[in-house]
Amino acid sequence: MEDTYRHKGLRRLLVEEIRKKGIIDERVLEAVGSVPRHAFMDSGFINFSYKDAAFPISAGQTISQPYTVAFQTQLLNVKPHEKILEIGTGSGYQAAVLAELGARVYTVERQRELFVSSQQLLGQLGYKIHFHYGDGYAGLPAYAPFDKILVTAGATEIPPALLQQLKQGGRMVIPVGNSEQQEMILVEKISETETKTSQHGGFVFVPFLKGKN
Ligand code: SAH
Repeated sequence: MEDTYRHKGLRRLLVEEIRKKGIIDERVLEAVGSVPRHAFMDSGFINFSYKDAAFPISAGQTISQPYTVAFQTQLLNVKPHEKILEIGTGSGYQAAVLAELGARVYTVERQRELFVSSQQLLGQLGYKIHFHYGDGYAGLPAYAPFDKILVTAGATEIPPALLQQLKQGGRMVIPVGNSEQQEMILVEKISETETKTSQHGGFVFVPFLKGKN
C-alpha cells in the first residue's frame, strides 16, 4: 500500500495531537510518525486511519487508539535491541511501533485469522517480527526471559506465567480491571520474588481471553 504525502501529513498532525495529550518521549512520537497506520485498518475505516481513536478490525477485535499505543510504549521504556513480548497482536500496529524503536518483538495472538493477516502484512511492510498463534496467558516460555512485556487486551489479573518470563529489572505494562474498564498497571520486577506496581490511569481494551480461537 502506498504511503503518500497526504498520509505523511496526516500522521504529523496525529503526532502533534498525541503530544498535546501528554506523550513526551520523542522516540515514541517518531515511531508513531513512521508507521503507516492506514495499512493496518479495515477497508471500511481507512479514511479514519489518522484519527486518534480505536477502530474495529476482523474477528470482532480492535486496533488500539494511537494515544494508547504511545502511552503503553512510553511506559514500557523501550531501548534498542531489547527483547519484547507483546500479547494481543491484533492488527500488528503496536508490534510495528515497537519494531520502529529497534526492539526484537515477539507477539502472540489467539485469533488465527488475525495471526495470519498481521504476519503477512508486517512481512510486506518489511518488519522483522516473530509471530505466534496461541494463548498469551502462557506467554512464550521457549523464548523467555523478556526485557519487557506488553499486554494489549484487558486482563482481570496479572498472569503468573508472564511475570515469570520477565527478566529481573524488567517491566510489564498491562491493563487490569473488569470488562468495562481497566487501570494501566506497570509492574517492575525488582528480583525473583519482589515486584513494584504502579497505576497509570483508566483505559478500555477488548478482553484478554483464555485459550485459542
Ligand atoms: N496490539 C493490537 C491490539 C489488538 S486488541 C493492535 O495494535 O492492533 C487485543 C488483541 O488481543 C485482540 O486481537 C485479541 O484477539 C487478543 N487477545 C485476547 N486474549 C488473548 C490471549 N489470551 N492470547 C493472545 N491474544 C489475545
